[in-house]
Amino acid sequence: MKKKTEILHLAAARDEQTGALSIPVFHASTYHQADVEARQKWTYGRSANPTREALEGLLASLEGAVDGFAFSSGMAALTTALTSFVKSGDHIVATKNIYGGTFRLLTTYLDRFGVTHTFVDTTNPRDVEQAIGDKTKILLLESPSNPLLIITDLVAMSSIAQKHGIVSIIDNTFMTPYLQRPLDFGIDISVHSATKFLGGHSDLIAGAIMTKTKEQGKAIKAVQSTCGNILSPNDSWLLIRGIKTLSARMDAQCKSADALARWLTMQPWASEVFYPGLENHEGHDIIKSQSSGFGAVASVKLDSVERAQRIMKRVKIWNVAVSLGGVESILSYPKEMSHAAIPAKERLSLGITDELIRLSVGLEDVEDLIEDLRCAAESK
Ligand code: PLP
Repeated sequence: MKKKTEILHLAAARDEQTGALSIPVFHASTYHQADVEARQKWTYGRSANPTREALEGLLASLEGAVDGFAFSSGMAALTTALTSFVKSGDHIVATKNIYGGTFRLLTTYLDRFGVTHTFVDTTNPRDVEQAIGDKTKILLLESPSNPLLIITDLVAMSSIAQKHGIVSIIDNTFMTPYLQRPLDFGIDISVHSATKFLGGHSDLIAGAIMTKTKEQGKAIKAVQSTCGNILSPNDSWLLIRGIKTLSARMDAQCKSADALARWLTMQPWASEVFYPGLENHEGHDIIKSQSSGFGAVASVKLDSVERAQRIMKRVKIWNVAVSLGGVESILSYPKEMSHAAIPAKERLSLGITDELIRLSVGLEDVEDLIEDLRCAAESK
């Protein structure tokens, strides 16, 4: 079965009881137990919910995973993925090119519980090997990275993790399982902010974890049930509905992002364009080998901070907002938004400068998006 057919077939699975083409929303928090001594599948909504279970099965299938789990946000999913495999005294090796919220999780939260970390350049396998020590339990990746679209070689990273017996975890938000299935390349766990392309409509905050083995799934499930950071039944339904159109949205949005990035490279006021679909992007060949598309996010460094600010003030079609991955195009300012949690010196050393804007390309006609950006950038 082709990928597009499979996504729709799985997401539009029929309700077994009624034949309904949309999974019902079960709001019940608790369930009658006819025999309290007997094991019963449905007992309490934090442990399991039929709507959430339908979503979790769908997520696992899409990613080629054994198990899937749905969370109340991407950060809830990341927190669960990390805390399921560490205890006080353990160490995490993480990519330095990382979403600001994940940076904050490692630097201001997990460290309070005695979990240490080292940030490394995961495009350099030797740096990764050197950072791994006796206490290291997790290798945390993000590819393409937010916001500079830096690409990490998944096969190289999963073989390092396997060699050292540590768990490899990737934030796969920018690609979705439609474009990239990290588990196929040996990665153990894939995490998503489903708020973004999976949901696709900027009307939901959600997260997901998919695991390669039952054992890893058990570890995640234990933390999910204990901490209770589950996705609600309504939002589970909404996410299933979003996923039904995932392939159509991604195909159209990737195509427009490619056209926009190519146009940007020709503008005198755009000093650097970051899009992995561009042949001169450093990770172009790697992403081609591990993904079936380049995504719908591009970033651009303008020739001045004033130009960046002028664009944000003057655009009419683009939304200036936090987040990405919706059907509507969103322009973000990483310095003040997604990467505000990273101290200025560190942020600048990562290349996330004050002239950088991030573009999440939606479903509008790309000619209108280009014209809107051109007018804003060239206005006096
Ligand atoms: N991972 C990435 C790459 C993100 O861009 C974000 C949010 O922007 C998150 C994780 C966090 O997701 P959420 O906002 O759903 O908690």
